[in-house]
Amino acid sequence: MKINENYANLEQSYLFSTIAKKVNEYTAQNPDKKVIKLGIGDVTLPLCKAVTEALHKAVDEMGVQATFRGYGPEQGYDFLRKAVQEYYTKRNVELELDEIFISDGAKSDLGNILDLFSKDNTVLVPDPVYPVYVDTNVMAGRKVVYVDANGENEFLPLPDKNVQADIIYICSPNNPTGAAYNKEQLQTWVDYAKSMNAIILFDAAYECFVSDENLPRSIFEIEGAKDCAIEFCSLSKTAGFTGTRCGYTVVPKALGVLNKMWVRRQTTKFNGVPYIVQRGAEAVFSEEGQKEIIENINYYKENAKVISDTLKSCGIWHVGGKHSPYIWLKCPNDMDSWTFFDYLLENAQVVGTPGAGFGKNGDGYFRLTSFGSKENTAEAMKRFKKLFG
Ligand code: PLP
Repeated sequence: MKINENYANLEQSYLFSTIAKKVNEYTAQNPDKKVIKLGIGDVTLPLCKAVTEALHKAVDEMGVQATFRGYGPEQGYDFLRKAVQEYYTKRNVELELDEIFISDGAKSDLGNILDLFSKDNTVLVPDPVYPVYVDTNVMAGRKVVYVDANGENEFLPLPDKNVQADIIYICSPNNPTGAAYNKEQLQTWVDYAKSMNAIILFDAAYECFVSDENLPRSIFEIEGAKDCAIEFCSLSKTAGFTGTRCGYTVVPKALGVLNKMWVRRQTTKFNGVPYIVQRGAEAVFSEEGQKEIIENINYYKENAKVISDTLKSCGIWHVGGKHSPYIWLKCPNDMDSWTFFDYLLENAQVVGTPGAGFGKNGDGYFRLTSFGSKENTAEAMKRFKKLFG
């Protein structure tokens, strides 16, 4: 037996364990202080009523002989694929049903898709970004190169024609920066990918937070994207499915063999998302479901606005928040990410996520999220204002 030596090349991630350790130590020493956590990347509002009703109904169906279901189609039930298809139609993106694959969330498929690509591909990843893109490729032994996101390009880097890449990751709206590309910028990426004969892996996990109708929520709103892109999306942040698990991946047939390869990969290694969960997911796309989830998303967006307005009034540079649950700020007084983390915990009892945990360009920056309660967000911002206002 020989192990996959590539695992030794993974950078250890101490980010969330270090945060937890520091917070635990602080609360043990300061039991009377109320610590507010704005670091979490998980939703806090419960599933909406349309979803829980659909889940209950599906559970009952499973307990009755006539409506019981065993193995389902690996690519997802048609009722859900059709709901996703109609969702795209609303954005003027026409997809065929067999271009839509129901998944148990974006993370799994972002990793699984790499089965389709040779080890001998160069992977282009923005820095900073969601760490899964880098780690899944390091595990497979692929070469990773970076495109710098920074204050100068407002954390929306564009391609450098002199850099050769085969697999390109784009996450918009972005985790951790919250920055969202416009159509022209994405067109530049699509044109670049086509000129390189490369594929774009587009992560749209936060598309539902886009507030401006003119900003793209799908890469397929961009001309030519079906020839060069695969899209990953998720109901995790859209509808509070982080624990329920459902998402979808779009592999256009215009990509040729890749659509068929993905069918083969999924039918070989995946047995589908539970029927019950898919019925809950279907309800997200119903009229009632859409109304209810938008209320939840607006709740988070209001928190984001409170954070962004406070930072603005304190003169703290930041991006994100408008089209995203994430606000990405420059640490005041040129502090590095971890110094600012300690300073904020000590002086305001507010916890965020040090930007350094998302790549070298993240150092000196800090991520706050709008997934907390309205009350906690307001209280945390009051403390910010006192400290920096
Ligand atoms: N993509 C991005 C950019 C994320 O931030 C996350 C989760 O935080 C995911 C994908 C994973 O989503 P899922 O819960 O659908 O696996």
